[in-house]
Parts: sequence; structure tokens; C-alpha cells
Amino acid sequence: MNFDDALPWWQALTPRQIGQLAADDAVAVLPLAAIEQHGEHLPLSTDLDIALGLLCAARSCLRANLAWCVLPPLCVGLSLEHTAFPGTLSLTPETALASVVELGESVRRAGIRRLVLFNSHGGNSAIVDLAALKLRADRRMLVVRANYLRFAPPPEAIPAAELRHGIHGGALETAMMLHLAPHKVRRQTLANFHSLGEDLEMAGRVLRPGGQAGFGWMAQDLNPAGVVGNATLADATLGARLVDHFAATLALVIEEAADFDLSALAEHGPRWEPC
Ligand SMILES: [Zn+2]
Repeated sequence: MNFDDALPWWQALTPRQIGQLAADDAVAVLPLAAIEQHGEHLPLSTDLDIALGLLCAARSCLRANLAWCVLPPLCVGLSLEHTAFPGTLSLTPETALASVVELGESVRRAGIRRLVLFNSHGGNSAIVDLAALKLRADRRMLVVRANYLRFAPPPEAIPAAELRHGIHGGALETAMMLHLAPHKVRRQTLANFHSLGEDLEMAGRVLRPGGQAGFGWMAQDLNPAGVVGNATLADATLGARLVDHFAATLALVIEEAADFDLSALAEHGPRWEPC
């Protein structure tokens, strides 16, 4: 796919056009991804490929004449949990948070107050949460935390246990890659990658990677291959269904960000008169 024309890129515009977007009270979307190991069956770019694929699919769901644009993706994110594997690029948490906040401040400086942080990598979620709060507190912006991994999946598309445990390189990501970029999937290495989380769940533990109480983990703690989930459940048909579903949710998120009443972002808390 030629991404040059596929999305309304911020970087394709001129200052005057950005000014028009601000006058139109536009929504800016910042794609947040990762360049990190996804086992031997998927490329390092998996999260970036999925983010851009979902955005392209969402575009066709958006209502006509919506004022919006897409910022250059933050390709590298917070991937500390994958640093034991060659190829993973990672920012530190401090740099990742500062990068998102500083890009948000640049958007605000251009006069745009609606920002959707569209994230395709679980390890970035904490950064998304903190950046959204900081930009709200400091710049009085609407900053949407849109982690597609937290969107409700299509009903019964993937077994519930696979959704709980197959959080990296499993059926979900592999299926979407088979739809979006099949030439990048090494099909001969697809396998069922068992997770430590399944063992802990079977043992009835409260303390699990994604349980009621979790713990900090590195990818190799969950499976020595660094991936978890049953990638053999993936096929391109499932991938197309997942992409359509998540893209429709993303389009709703962007439209609701455009419609959100910014006066709800109050300038001050209550003022108490001195007694
Ligand atoms: Zn991923």
C-alpha cells in the first residue's frame, strides 16, 4: 500500500492548511506503535503495520467532511519487555512519555485541541494514560486514550482463553498481519506459543500476568520464544474481520472526539469563599 496518499497526513500540509484545520476544530490522530520482536513468524514492524492498516480502514468508515489529520507515527515506543531479543528498539519510559507530551504540545501550539492517541502496542498503554492526563492538566486538551487492544473484539471471533493469553504474536496479531501484509508473515514458523499465564490460571492463582494482581514481566518470562498465543488459529479471513471491526470502533472514537463538548474540560475546580 502507498501510505503517502492513504491517510490525511499532517506532514503533507502547509502552515496555512494547518491553520485551517485549527479553525475547523479538527481532530489530530497520533499513531503510537513499536518496533520490537514478534517471534520468528512476524516482522519487527508488526505493531506499526497494524496501526496504519487500522487507520486506513477507519478512514473509509468516517463521515464525510470530518476535519481530521494523522500525525507522523511514533514508530518506536516503550518496549522494555522485549529488549532481550535482537531487533527490538525501545525508548525509556521517560523519553517515551516526553515524546508523546511534546508532540501533543506541538499540536496544541498549532491551535488544535482534540488529539487521539491511537496505540497498537500494549507496552505503550501506561504512556498513553500518563500523556493524556498531563496534556489535559497542562494544556486543557481533549486527549483520547485509544488503545485498540482494549477495544471489545468481535464476538466469538477468537476463543476467550486465546484473547486472555495470546497477547503478543498470537492469533489476533497474526491474523491481522495475514490480511494486511501477508508477504511479511513467515507461515512455516506459525505455532502455538504457550504462556506462563495459562499455567497460573490453571492453578487458580490470582497473581497472573494479566490477572487481578499482575507483575512486571519480560517477554521471555511468558514463553522462551518471546511470543504467546496460538498463531495457528490465524488466517486472513479472521484478520479481515478483526481489521474491519477494530477500524469501525476507531472511526467512532475519532468522530466522538470531533463531537466532544470541550466546555466539559473545566478550567478550574470549585472556588471556595473564605469563611
Ligand atoms: Zn504487537
